Formats: sequence, structure tokens, C-alpha cells
Amino acid sequence: MASDSHTPPELSDALPGEEEASLNTLLQSILASVPDAMIVIDEHGKIVAFSAAAERLFGYTAEQVQGQNIKILMGGDDHSYHDNYIHNYLRTGKKQIIGVGRMVEARLADGTTIPVELKIGDANFGEHHLFTGFIRDLSEQQASEHRMGELQVELTNFSRLSAVGTMASAMAHELNQPLTAVANYLEAARDLLDTPDPETIAMVQEALAAASIQSIRAGQIIRRLRDYVSRGEIDARPVDLRPVIAEAITLSKVGIEGQQLAPVVDHIDDDLPIVLADRLQIRQVIVNLVKNAVEALADTPDPLITVTVTAVDDANVEISVSDNGPGFDLPEGHGPFDAFYSSKPNGMGLGLSICQTIIDAHNGEIIAESEPGKGATFRFRLKRDTD
Ligand code: ADP
Repeated sequence: MASDSHTPPELSDALPGEEEASLNTLLQSILASVPDAMIVIDEHGKIVAFSAAAERLFGYTAEQVQGQNIKILMGGDDHSYHDNYIHNYLRTGKKQIIGVGRMVEARLADGTTIPVELKIGDANFGEHHLFTGFIRDLSEQQASEHRMGELQVELTNFSRLSAVGTMASAMAHELNQPLTAVANYLEAARDLLDTPDPETIAMVQEALAAASIQSIRAGQIIRRLRDYVSRGEIDARPVDLRPVIAEAITLSKVGIEGQQLAPVVDHIDDDLPIVLADRLQIRQVIVNLVKNAVEALADTPDPLITVTVTAVDDANVEISVSDNGPGFDLPEGHGPFDAFYSSKPNGMGLGLSICQTIIDAHNGEIIAESEPGKGATFRFRLKRDTD
């Protein structure tokens, strides 16, 4: 139960006998239990009631503040202007702060100031004007807003970092292919030179030429990725997809050893329109998709991969890569485009997420469909070059 010290003396003065006693009990229970800090002041700004929550918030007891000017609990500009607020209100009836919640600074007993929300109500009580202020501590809310701000900054940094990380992984993934090929060709050349005769010399020359083509390709990938990172955008130009598909199909078989290579058939519209795309990046998408299909079909009898390119409407060309393999077998909660999931012993789980990044950059969408036992299909669209 609250002590009598919470009771506004002016109120008890204004009421007679029993009525006063029961009103006091009621007031005391309100002052003791009201969850927000509640302060009642008179028209001179003098504190007449101070709730238990106000005692906890400000660090003063009700006795310490009763009869004092409310200014002692205020920080900042309000400290100097408060008397004016009341005076103006009583004179003009203009509600500058009455009835509206505002954020003000409260000064605590230990001298620190904290942000609070203040709502003031006005009541006439007998001859007295009483103002009741409800005060809510905003410092926690502000701390959490501040924390939210910090988190936002962390998140921005994180996504910047992860973009760099993804790019680095993308480079590792894409470079792996030509560098493995270079190593293989050079090893073959070295072994061939064990028995140098005109025939093996000719083969060595072929192997070295192939190694050189692959190393040029590695250089192109690095340049392309470096451009991509520094500009953060794609180099979209008018592209004829037909040769791009042919190159991609050839490249997708590089570096796959020790398994059957599924045949790839293509169905390309005869009068396929030119699209706007970044040629090398789209080729990389098709390489990744066909390579995945080849790997998925390792144990499928009569494997088949189909690449279809169709002008689906006046604005778009759709490219799809389908296989008749086992379909996705992804663990619960994993989407096919999630980075770093791979069902392959040496997989990095980046191929599809790179595809998605590239298609996103083309303002498109790549979708995956799969029926267990019947295969998987990936589709995406590119914009036609309308100029
Ligand atoms: P990685 O090839 O390094 O595993 P990807 O991002 O290319 O990474 O693919 C992630 C996973 O998606 C693969 O490991 C495989 O389990 C599954 N997947 C991709 N393509 C197919 C497909 N055509 N058929 C079945 N599963 C596939």
C-alpha cells in the first residue's frame, strides 16, 4: 500500500469527512499501482502527487518532491520554459502541451537526463487547477532503436562482405574448370615427352595449344569478374544466342571424367530474335545448368539433356535446360539456389546461386522444377533487343 505521502494535500483540503477518506484510499491505490510514472502539479507548477512508479523512475521519494516546482524534474529547454507553458495555458486556454504526448527530457535525482514521453491532462478540482502528467521512460526504447540502427549498419556491411565473398567463391568456381584443363594438358605433354618422336611432338603441340586456349579463358573470366565487381552491373548488349548455346554445351563437358556424358540436344527457334544480355555471363549460366544435368545423369539409363530456346512473346526469349535424371534430392529447408549446398563429393554448391545472381542482374528470374525420378528443368527469360 502506498504511504500517505503520495496524497495531494490540496485535494484532501478540498473534500470533507468520509468522502475525503475514501477518495484518499482510491488515490493512494492509483498512485501506488499506476504502471507509468504519474505526477500531479497545481497551477503554479508545484508537485502535489507523485506515484510509486515516478519514485522508481526519478529516484526521489514523494516526500522529497512534494511542494517543489516541477522544474526540478525537467532537463533541457523545458526546464526554463515550463512556467511559461502553464501560464500561457491558464491565460489563453491554448493547449500547447495538454492532451498531446511529446518527448521531453527528464532530470533524475542523480542529475542524469533521460528521454521520456510526457502526456498531460488538465482537471479542475474545486478551486484548484490540477495537471496530471504521465511519464514513460523512452530510454529503453531509444536504446533499442539505437541498436536497430547499429544492426542495420552491420547488416549493410555484412551484405557487402558476403557479396565480396560470393564473388571470390564465384571466381574460384569458374576458374577451377580452365585451370584443371591447363594442368591436365600440361601433364599429358610432359608424359608424351618421355618418348619424343615426331608423332608425340605433334600431340604435345596440340596439348600446349589447348592449354593456352584454356589459360586465355581463365584470363577472360578474371577480367570479366573484375569488371563485374567494380561496376556492379552487367554489360548487356545485343546477343545472338545460337553460338552461345553451342559454346556452352561444349564447355560444360570440360573436366567431367569417369562418367557417361549424356547427349545434349537443342531446340532453338529458327528465327530466334536477338536478346539483350551479357554474353559471357549467360554462357556461364548455361554451362552451369548443363554441367549440373550431366552430373545428375551419371547413373541414368538413356540419359538426355534438352536445351530449348523459344521466343515466348513479343518481349521475351525463354531458355530452358531439362534432363531426365533423378530430379532434386535436397535436404529439408534447402532451395536449389541456396549457396553452399552440394550433394556432390567435390561440389561447392555455388553453381546455381551464381546462375541466380547473373539472372537477377539481368532483371530476370530463374526457376527450377523437378519431379522425383523424372528429372529437373531450369528456366529463365531474357529481354528481346527491340531497337
Ligand atoms: P554444385 O554443382 O557445386 O553441387 P550447384 O549450385 O550447381 O552446386 O547445385 C547444388 C545442388 O543442386 C547440387 O549439388 C545437386 O544436388 C542439385 N542439382 C542441381 N542441378 C540438378 C539437376 N539437374 N538434377 C538434380 N539435382 C540437381
